[in-house]
Amino acid sequence: MISLTIDGKPVSVQEGSSVLDAARSAGIPIPTLCHHPKLSAFGGCRLCIVRIEGIPRPVTSCTTPAAEGMVVTTASPEITALRKTVLELILSDHPNDCMVCEGAGTCTLQEYAYAFGLRDNPYPGERRQYEACDANPFIERDMEKCIACGRCVKVCDEIQGVAAINFTYRGFKTKICPAFERELDCEFCGQCVQVCPTGALTGKQWARTARTLDVQKVRTVCGYCGVGCEVLLHVQNNRIIRVSAPDDGWNEGWLCVKGRFGYRFVDSPDRLTEPLIRKDGVLQPASWDEALQLVADKLTAIKTQHGPDTIGGLSSARCTTEENYLFQKLMRAAIGTNNVDHCARL
Ligand code: SF4
Ligand code: SF4
Ligand code: SF4
Repeated sequence: MISLTIDGKPVSVQEGSSVLDAARSAGIPIPTLCHHPKLSAFGGCRLCIVRIEGIPRPVTSCTTPAAEGMVVTTASPEITALRKTVLELILSDHPNDCMVCEGAGTCTLQEYAYAFGLRDNPYPGERRQYEACDANPFIERDMEKCIACGRCVKVCDEIQGVAAINFTYRGFKTKICPAFERELDCEFCGQCVQVCPTGALTGKQWARTARTLDVQKVRTVCGYCGVGCEVLLHVQNNRIIRVSAPDDGWNEGWLCVKGRFGYRFVDSPDRLTEPLIRKDGVLQPASWDEALQLVADKLTAIKTQHGPDTIGGLSSARCTTEENYLFQKLMRAAIGTNNVDHCARL
């Protein structure tokens, strides 16, 4: 363990911890935009600066390892003024259209602008202007709202292992995009949307559906596959309008494209709600007794005429373990074949 002093308070942390980790473990708040506890440190936003005795200038606490005997100051008029300037510089090239922004209510930049009481822009000048990019089915990218924190780049590389996006150009022209500024064409897991601290990345499906305050969040389990990721359903008027993942779930806040974006089937008018039997070439509603009898008759006829091994059964990852067990039992014991498989192996 390492012992240091932060704002006059003795703190002990594991070796390898950063000064930011140490402060937060002691309940000392330090604002951050680029930092994410599950991603490697970047030190890009400069908001987490602190003073450390013996170091002539303020340093970023997220990239500075805690060391034995360190004496750290996280809050002082000087530090507050520097953080305020950092925020003003970020906001000087930001659309500030919180009234219509999807991120409003969950945007960390908005939260800090409020906390620091920022109203005016002391740094007027050139602004980046980009068309919104949404030539893909899932993610709307508004790069004018991007603060180049790099969280999306890191999550795509370090968590998803895809590296679909990166910093392009440098300086004022810095922009996050796929190689050669092509359209986004990736796994569409949406982890980048989940970690973006502003409204730069949004799910297209939930854009302009509801304000954060208007939704109720229901914690449950994704029903798409046996992995069983924990999800948060954002519900408004009894409709799911968005899915995210709780950071403290066993899947650590990450989902795949199905879990995050595949929720529209729930209230789709195309959803099957009763059995259909094709009669005279047209699918027509039928009772369960009628449908099950038809299936049993057809399977019995095939088995009698051609033998049980001419029948095969495919089960589903969306069924429970018990249902999958019963299905193989049906195939083996009732029909008499070992031709049974599962969609997860296709
Ligand atoms: S959706 Fe997933 S794969 Fe695509 S850019 Fe975002 S994090 Fe990377
Ligand atoms: S798109 Fe969002 S997460 Fe990515 S760098 Fe910009 S602000 Fe950060
Ligand atoms: S479908 Fe995707 S999000 Fe859902 S449980 Fe499986 S891996 Fe998780």
